[in-house]
Amino acid sequence: MPNSSANLPLFFDPTLHFIGGDWVAPRSSATLPVENPSTGEIIGAIAMGTAPDIDAAVAAAQTSLDGEWGRTPAVERGRILTRLGRLILDRVDALARIEAMDVGKPLKQARADVLALARYMEFYGGACDKVHGETIPYLDGYTVYTLRQPHGVTGHIIPWNYPMQIIGRSVGGALAMGNACVLKPAEEAALTAIAFGKLAEEAGLPKGALNIVTGLGEDAGAALASHPGVHHLSFTGSVAVGQMIQAAAAKNVIPVTLELGGKSPQLVFADADLDAALPFLVNAGIQNAGQTCSASSRILVQRGVYDAVLERMSERYRTLVAAPALDGRDLGPVISARQQTDIKQRLGRLVDGARIVSEGSISAAAPAGGHYLPATLIAGADPTNHLSQQEIFGPVQVVIPFEDEADALKIANGTEFGLVASIWTSNGARQMRLAKSLKSGQVFINNYGAGGGVELPFGGVGKSGHGREKGMEALYGFSVLKTVAAFHG
Ligand code: NAD
Repeated sequence: MPNSSANLPLFFDPTLHFIGGDWVAPRSSATLPVENPSTGEIIGAIAMGTAPDIDAAVAAAQTSLDGEWGRTPAVERGRILTRLGRLILDRVDALARIEAMDVGKPLKQARADVLALARYMEFYGGACDKVHGETIPYLDGYTVYTLRQPHGVTGHIIPWNYPMQIIGRSVGGALAMGNACVLKPAEEAALTAIAFGKLAEEAGLPKGALNIVTGLGEDAGAALASHPGVHHLSFTGSVAVGQMIQAAAAKNVIPVTLELGGKSPQLVFADADLDAALPFLVNAGIQNAGQTCSASSRILVQRGVYDAVLERMSERYRTLVAAPALDGRDLGPVISARQQTDIKQRLGRLVDGARIVSEGSISAAAPAGGHYLPATLIAGADPTNHLSQQEIFGPVQVVIPFEDEADALKIANGTEFGLVASIWTSNGARQMRLAKSLKSGQVFINNYGAGGGVELPFGGVGKSGHGREKGMEALYGFSVLKTVAAFHG
């Protein structure tokens, strides 16, 4: 593979870990290659951390809790996070370019991710000193109150698809509540996580409050998940790894937040405003080349408008172009050759009536080494078909007809996931009924995603996971409640 990092605007050394406020080489001295999915080129290297690096990071986090970070008042934590948000905005162009080259996402999306990260810092910076306990009326002679305290050391294991957004909602919430964090980014895309450490240092975050160790999941990730010095785990990623994380957490009897996959449906009724729905139906499926946990990969359409919706979606699909991230077209490549092969194999198994009804194209400017796939629209698949049931994590949507509300609900709730769902209908009573009955962590009515607001609690049910991040709700998860009962007679 050619080696080119010429256009990567790094302002930090990605071959170092951030531990205890210092930039340190990994104990193994080994590195992992950084690939640009748009070209297949190796554009740099990150440190390959192992268990001893995780040990050092957890120890540094504990030291910071016993020292300066543990004594930092909520208002000051808020100022630091707010400052960090501003420093992120100062670097918006560099961060967006780094993310586009590391993840393969169109520059515009990468830029939106930077803005979201800054917004998380602003939101959680402002929230630090607004979460508090209660006084509880109790027996005569007692005063009872509750305290919201940090768990202690929190471990954060994140995926490659939205590194900055997930750091924002996970590490942002944990720091706001005064925890000391150890972050293990994904090996496929860790650069902006390291950049976040550099900017946190610049913002004046006390040493050890944030530690970043890069490395492989089965190595550094597993060491973090099972570490006895960690008091809470936040994991975002696949179901299979989530199960391992929960098992590791169970051994140490610590709480865990799992943000896993999805097969999120949009329910389109015959009385919906189709012009309003159309852009959401498609964009929610192809954003980030479909590599979004909350991607809408199932479009359920009432029979009366099924043909019309399928035709209009097909038309739109024919215009979708996959192109290098920096070209800023509709979608970029998928993250890796492995992912590309996996998706192709799934699409090669068109069983139970499933057929490709429309496809986008791949730009002539796309280098042969990049991992491109055309956006692919499927129809005719039974709701029990593997394409209707399993998370594909690529630019693929399945359109499924339904008869009536009961049928729509049955199909929508008929997977093992439950992350996001949306309802397109002008019938208010139906909106309310379905919002209650859908098996989903978030429900959107006549929209999809609501712009992804950082204020909106997010998380799944079923195999989509448990626990909530984002919004104020995350701060309850990243803290532990203590009850104090004073007897004074
Ligand atoms: P993954 O589970 O393979 O990896 C996620 C993280 O876990 C990485 O940092 C990886 O290094 C680490 N890891 C891997 N094996 C590990 C182990 N044995 N012990 C500890 N850590 C380990 O997931 P992925 O392929 O990077 O991401 C795709 C998945 O993530 C999809 O299923 C997607 O739906 C999900 N996801 C969910 C959300 C959400 O908020 N619900 C957001 C983004 C992605």
